[in-house]
Amino acid sequence: MAEIIVQKFGGTSVGSVERIAEVAKIVEKSAQENNIIVVVSAMSGETNRLIGLAKSFGENPNKREFDALVSTGEKVSASLLAIALNQIGIKAKSFSAAQISMKTTNNFSKAKILDIDDKKILDTLADGYIPIITGFQGITETGDVTTLGRGGSDTTAVAIAASVKAKQCDIYTDVDGIYTTDPRMVPNAKKLDAISMEEMLEMAGKGAKVIQIRAVEFANKFNVPVRVLSSFEQGNGTLIYLKDDNNMENALVSGIAFQKDQVKITLHGVTDTPGIAYQILGPLSDENIEVDVIVQNVSVNGKTDFTFTVSEEDKSNAEAVLQNLKDVTYDDLIIDSDVAKVSLVGVGMRTHAGVASTAFKSLSDNEINIQMISTSEIKITIVIKEGALESAVKALHSAFELEK
Ligand code: ADP
Ligand code: ASP
Ligand code: MG
Repeated sequence: MAEIIVQKFGGTSVGSVERIAEVAKIVEKSAQENNIIVVVSAMSGETNRLIGLAKSFGENPNKREFDALVSTGEKVSASLLAIALNQIGIKAKSFSAAQISMKTTNNFSKAKILDIDDKKILDTLADGYIPIITGFQGITETGDVTTLGRGGSDTTAVAIAASVKAKQCDIYTDVDGIYTTDPRMVPNAKKLDAISMEEMLEMAGKGAKVIQIRAVEFANKFNVPVRVLSSFEQGNGTLIYLKDDNNMENALVSGIAFQKDQVKITLHGVTDTPGIAYQILGPLSDENIEVDVIVQNVSVNGKTDFTFTVSEEDKSNAEAVLQNLKDVTYDDLIIDSDVAKVSLVGVGMRTHAGVASTAFKSLSDNEINIQMISTSEIKITIVIKEGALESAVKALHSAFELEK
């Protein structure tokens, strides 16, 4: 059997019947050389529309029904693409996640993929049909429909690629590759020909929504080369490569990622005893709330401030958890939604000092106040006021000459 390539088409790529006809042509052409498995997102705007509908009766709809509803957008686009392909004489069959037994954990809206029935997919290929699979969704052990978090179709695609040992996973989207930063915010951002898996993990983890972080994690774990490219124009896109085998000098900073929907939470006047970090963060983690940039201040008179960020969607949940902490006492719970995170990513940071000071100088020159900083080997994350985000990203982009 020829080698397998998984092709994923995002919302804009299947945003209209005209676009779906174009996608059918891409699939038809690729199928002449390789075995193609397709994963699709919902038509653009559809998932948001469904989320809006689900909230018609209150802000917190039943979790099971929420996922059952918002997962339907992908069924529409999968069937439409299969219809379009059949129309041009290419045999194709659409499948929902349930039909390929894409098993996930049972945390609705944030479910994680556990297992896939690749036999069904491979048998379909062997029968001469192109499988068109719904992204973004799975089923629990007991058959309830789950969803994988926004942008989750990327993860479906890479997980399937890993499962069938595809030679590559191509993520078709509305930009022609991965850029030094979101080209919609910084028009002179530069397209990268390639980026290391390591750097992409950090970029995606810090908000570059061009590919979902879980997808990069899968690719990294199962050695799936991933390419991001445009479904609107021809081109080679950007390859996310597994191992850094070139001997070229690594870029100091390869890219800048940012996240707007952030909340900064401070527990003011916490009694500083051993174990407080665990006592605060443990209950949040039990609720599947991801906590980022964490700072604990020097304690004064046995009391300290403990600050961290969570994403906006976890705000009310986090607030409820913190108000009900059993073992921790504090004076005040301060929640600030007017913050954003900007992250500089580059493997070159490992061997070069000075990245942080260049970044801080550039923000200072632009009178942008830094609220929190966290660093790792190849990344610096800075928390600032949300209103300053665009100027911060632009200033940092030019300070590191990423447009060149
Ligand atoms: P799809 O619907 O195809 O999954 P997404 O909207 O999820 O597309 O992701 C593509 C978008 O990601 C682009 O339109 C772009 O605005 C945004 N983006 C953010 N950071 C980057 C980056 N570093 N490079 C390219 N695109 C980026
Ligand atoms: N349709 C889902 C979303 O809008 C999944 C995806 O597009 O990847 O988040
Ligand atoms: Mg996406």
